[in-house]
Amino acid sequence: MTKPLIPFISQLPLVEQLQWVERLNQLMPNVNVTIASAIEAIDKSQCELAIVANPLPEELLSFTHLIWVQSLWAGVERLVSEIENPSFEIVRLVDPCLAQTMADAVVAWSYYLHRDMPLYASQQKNKHWLQHRVSLTTECTIGVLGLGELGLASAKKLALNGFNVLGWSQQEKAGENMQCYVGPSGLHQVISQSDIVVILLPLTDKTTDLLDKTLFSLMKSGAGLINFSRGKIINDNDLMSALTNGIISHAVLDVFAQEPLPVENSLWSHPNVTVLPHISAPTNIDTACNIVKNNIDEFFLTRQFPPSIDLAKGY
Ligand code: NAP
Repeated sequence: MTKPLIPFISQLPLVEQLQWVERLNQLMPNVNVTIASAIEAIDKSQCELAIVANPLPEELLSFTHLIWVQSLWAGVERLVSEIENPSFEIVRLVDPCLAQTMADAVVAWSYYLHRDMPLYASQQKNKHWLQHRVSLTTECTIGVLGLGELGLASAKKLALNGFNVLGWSQQEKAGENMQCYVGPSGLHQVISQSDIVVILLPLTDKTTDLLDKTLFSLMKSGAGLINFSRGKIINDNDLMSALTNGIISHAVLDVFAQEPLPVENSLWSHPNVTVLPHISAPTNIDTACNIVKNNIDEFFLTRQFPPSIDLAKGY
C-alpha cells in the first residue's frame, strides 16, 4: 500500500525545509512528507493534508483536495489573511513548550522594565551613579492582553513571580486565579491600572490598531509596554507620541508591522525602545514535530484533527 503523501509547503530556506521533512519522516514512517515543489501535478489531488510554514498561497491552493493544514507556527494571521475562504481547515501549532518559552520571555522582559534596566543602562552611558527605589513585584501590576495559550501561560508565570496580574480576553475567564476583564470597558480598566502592559493578542480586524492614542492616554504615566504578538496591534505613530510625551517610559517590541524592521524606521534608534527580531517564542523543531506527528497519527486513525481556526473570529 502506498503511504499517504503529505506536502511540506513553506518559504523557509530549502536547507531548513529539508531538516523538517527529514525529522517528520523519521517520526512518521507510515506517511511520506515531501517538499511541495517536488510533487507532480497529477499527485497533488491525493493529498488530504499539508504541513505549512509561511506557504506561498498559490502553492498551497494548488493542492485542491486538502481537508486540513497543519501550521508549524502558533500564529497563523498571515495564512488567514492571504487565503480567502479556504476550502480546508487551518490547525495552528499548540505547543506547551512554546507557551513556556513565551512565558519565560514575558517574565524576563517584565523584570527588565520592573528593575529599571533601561534607566541604569542610560545612567551607565553617562557614568552616573544614582540609586532608585527598588519596588516589590507585588507593587507592580501587569496587564496581559490576550489570555490564550501564550497569554495565560505568561500571566500564570508572572503571578508565580509575585506580580499583580490583570488579564483581558474576548470571553469571560473563570477560575484563573487572577482578575480577568472583557470588553472595551474591561480593556480600559486593565490599561489604566497597569504598570506594564503585555500584548499577546492575535491580529484580527478587532485588534488592528487597538493600542492607539485613546488607549495610550488612559495608561499610567511612565508605564512599560511589551508587544510579543503582532506589530499592527499598535498604532506606531501614536506609540511614538506616547514615548515622546513620557506616557510610555519604555517599549519592548519583538514584532512589527513590517518585518524585518526597515533600517530607516525610527524605532531602531529610539532611546526608549528595545527592538527584538521576532524571537520571543520561536517554534522548537523537536517539540513541534512530536505534536504534528500526534495530530497526523490521530487523523489517519480516526479522521479527526485538532480544533481549527475560527475564521469568523480570525483566530
Ligand atoms: P490564542 O490561544 O488564540 O489566544 C488569543 C487570545 O486573545 C485569547 O485569549 C482571546 O480571547 C484573545 N482575544 C482575541 N481577540 C480578542 C479581542 N478582540 N478582545 C479581547 N481578547 C481577544 O493565541 P496564542 O497562542 O496565545 O497566540 C497569540 C499570538 O501570539 C498569536 O496570534 C501570534 O500572533 C503571537 N505569537 C508570537 C510569537 C513570537 O515569537 N513573537 C510566537 C508565537 C505566537 P478568548 O480566550 O476569549 O478567545
